[in-house]
Amino acid sequence: MPTSLKGQTGVVFGVANKRSLAWSCAKSLSGQGMRLCLTYASERLEDSVRKLAEELDDPLVLPCDVTIPEEIDAVFARIKKEFGSLDSVVHGAAFARREELAGDFYHTTKEGYMLAHEVSAYSLTAVARRAIPLMEGRKGTFVTLTYIGSERVVRNYNVMGIAKAALEASVRYLANDVGPMGHRVNAISAGPIRTLSASGVEGFTKILDHISKHSPLRRNTTADEVGDVCLFLCSNMSRGITGSTIYVDSGYHIMGV
Ligand code: NAP
Repeated sequence: MPTSLKGQTGVVFGVANKRSLAWSCAKSLSGQGMRLCLTYASERLEDSVRKLAEELDDPLVLPCDVTIPEEIDAVFARIKKEFGSLDSVVHGAAFARREELAGDFYHTTKEGYMLAHEVSAYSLTAVARRAIPLMEGRKGTFVTLTYIGSERVVRNYNVMGIAKAALEASVRYLANDVGPMGHRVNAISAGPIRTLSASGVEGFTKILDHISKHSPLRRNTTADEVGDVCLFLCSNMSRGITGSTIYVDSGYHIMGV
């Protein structure tokens, strides 16, 4: 790609392990020279994320549970101290209770609904509010990750589909807020890819099988394909695109019967 991100900095939320889509995004960005801060959700993930970070050039690695405002504050305070400014935010945090990702949607509890929305949708806004001051004078970019279950019924995706719809609407509202500052906000709607979170959705293997047979490309999406579109959305190559949901799903979203 004829673009370099040398001299730019970014923060990536939602790396759990080498299969994480956030990690693919981090690799693509770092490959073009962006200096990164990786965050991990809980102590349980610290070792694996630190190990992955060894593959990057001079990264920051910090804890951040996006439901804890003080932890988000601490991440941006550290970024300000170490990087001085910020160019890109990649948001790959999502969570719903396993029991809410199976069976009928109407069984969703209020607590499960609120939790899914807090982690998977509201956190983008919480993070953006803290990132914007560090993007002053730069052309900042935000990229989040969504799924077609926001707009169509995908069996068992349930409350996460509702949270993704809120996330995609947040992208549009945020894009309008920050556009006059020169910043952009977009979402990547990825096809199903086997990751830790995805395997929490009951029947996930059947979804993979369906896409491999029925998408225009007749194959499943890879994490690297998502990472490279993230790179595009964080680079000047996509300077005319904001508020959009870009599908990286082997074309599945165009299909009817
Ligand atoms: P993943 O590797 O499990 O990543 C999800 C990340 O969110 C994990 O690191 C998880 O940490 C983190 N998270 C959960 N609760 C959090 C919290 N309170 N604070 C901060 N982080 C938290 O799975 P993934 O598939 O790469 O998911 C990344 C994004 O891609 C998600 O938004 C997902 O919905 C989206 N997506 C995935 C697919 C797919 O098929 N894989 C398709 C379309 C969109 P824990 O492990 O500690 O929970």
